[in-house]
Amino acid sequence: MSAPTVRAARGTTLTARSWATEAPLRMLHNNLDPEVAERPADLVVYGGTGRATRDWASFDAISRELTALGEDETLLVQSGRPVGVLRTHPWAPRVLIANANLVPDWANWPEFRRLEAAGLTMYGQMTAGSWIYIGTQGILQGTYETFAAVAAKRFGGSLAGTLTVTAGLGGMGGAQPLAITMNEGVALVVECDPQRARRRLETRYLDEIASDVHDAVRRVTAAKAQRRPLSVAVIGNAAEVLPELLRRGVEVDVVTDQTSAHDPLAYLPIGVGVHEWRDYAASKPEEFTDRARESMAAHVSAMVGFLDAGAEVFDYGNSIRGEAKLGGCDRAFDFPGFVPAYIRPLFCEGRGPFRWAALSGDPADIAATDRAVLKLFPGNEPLARWIRMAGERVAFQGLPARICWLGYGERDRAGLAFNEMVASGELSAPVVIGRDHLDCGSVASPYRETEAMADGSDAIADWPLLNALVNTASGATWVSIHHGGGVGMGRSIHAGQVTVADGTPLAARKIERVLTNDPAMGVLRHADAGYPRAAEVAAERGLRIPMKER
Ligand code: NAD
Repeated sequence: MSAPTVRAARGTTLTARSWATEAPLRMLHNNLDPEVAERPADLVVYGGTGRATRDWASFDAISRELTALGEDETLLVQSGRPVGVLRTHPWAPRVLIANANLVPDWANWPEFRRLEAAGLTMYGQMTAGSWIYIGTQGILQGTYETFAAVAAKRFGGSLAGTLTVTAGLGGMGGAQPLAITMNEGVALVVECDPQRARRRLETRYLDEIASDVHDAVRRVTAAKAQRRPLSVAVIGNAAEVLPELLRRGVEVDVVTDQTSAHDPLAYLPIGVGVHEWRDYAASKPEEFTDRARESMAAHVSAMVGFLDAGAEVFDYGNSIRGEAKLGGCDRAFDFPGFVPAYIRPLFCEGRGPFRWAALSGDPADIAATDRAVLKLFPGNEPLARWIRMAGERVAFQGLPARICWLGYGERDRAGLAFNEMVASGELSAPVVIGRDHLDCGSVASPYRETEAMADGSDAIADWPLLNALVNTASGATWVSIHHGGGVGMGRSIHAGQVTVADGTPLAARKIERVLTNDPAMGVLRHADAGYPRAAEVAAERGLRIPMKER
């Protein structure tokens, strides 16, 4: 039987009994919209094998339950499968989700795959299994911010006249070329799967596909010399192309990577064709893993070579350093992860990837919220630049959505404004407000968000669990706790929340609490770790911390 094509309902006619259940229903369906998901037939949304539900029977059952769920009931989802409906109360989340969690000593890929093959679990990535993935735009803004921080740190505030080399044009990695050209730079992106590259071209995230490495180098070198923004993809294996670029002496200014290195079965080893990839990985996972790690070691050795040549090099949160080290690259950790390098100061202010989606399906609703954000934060020029560029250049995938990074004391204001716009009829239907799990106070991930914490607390995983409990206690519409995410088994624990703005006074009270307390967790976590800026933010904005001095 072939898999169904799924698309979220649009407009104001409810399929479920209230917007609080219609919202997760539409967002689950939206995650699997062919415009949104990377491999919808396999229920894979993004990030290697990040799934929306465990199987199609679970998808049907979750859809059915959400359609029938009352306002004092809560659906429990265990790794993509609905396992119970419990009597709760109107302030409680309508859905509680736990994905891919394993007891720490068992938290490795072979054991996870054994359980997955037995039909007992699924990989939820971050927003795949928690139903708030909004397509490549979701990561575009974070990627834009990161490259803007690189530009500020090394190149006087703009990437004009610089060349960035990276790999991976998947769900997340596909944001790289546009984020780089938005910062006025030139990008050369290596991708082994031509279909992925074509998809980015069609959605305007990528400008051109070169015929081979020679052609790609010619195009990007010319653009760099002319200080003309341009993104070029070349089809090939990054573990071969990066060493070749290094050998050729191409002058590269910035190097990173977004292949799915966190999962060795989702990284193509040298000598393996794209068409034989899935079968080979499934039939001989151990042999495939060894070969993938060996290739990652060659790939990362070339990145270290560019570092030695003076380039700005960073791990973009896919665990490639850890995997390359296992593959024999001793210098893999010579370059930093992007969070300690660029993002942590933002986390100290409770800043993170605030996102919302219009359940109406009408792009005019997002345009109206864009205008509202510009009005709410008039002094924030980078935010205004992003909102304007996103409005012009981002093609929506699935339900129209927007993302921007907002901090503690800002997210609640935006959320309340949106709720009022729903109440007044300025928006044609409710919106959902959520975020990535990659946020200031919702993740423990020593290779990424919590790498090199000031007090050495990188692996402390109490914070994301507290975050999920806080959001549950504050009135979020659905809350999730995941393991693995973007960095793989055993390497992270993280939590998500999504809250519906349906224009009611009750929604306003919930939004005010959730969107205050959720980013507050980031400020608390960083103040606790000893970051002075976080302590300052807490003091300035009235966040109570019982033991300020440790
Ligand atoms: P994806 O699986 O959708 O895409 C990965 C891409 O890499 C695919 O197109 C694949 O063909 C390509 N690829 C694999 N091996 C290759 C090789 N050897 N050479 C060239 N191309 C190769 O994954 P995604 O959603 O784009 O995520 C990419 C990585 O980034 C993942 O590890 C993910 O966990 C991580 N991630 C990072 C962040 C962040 O904020 N930095 C956020 C989410 C995810």
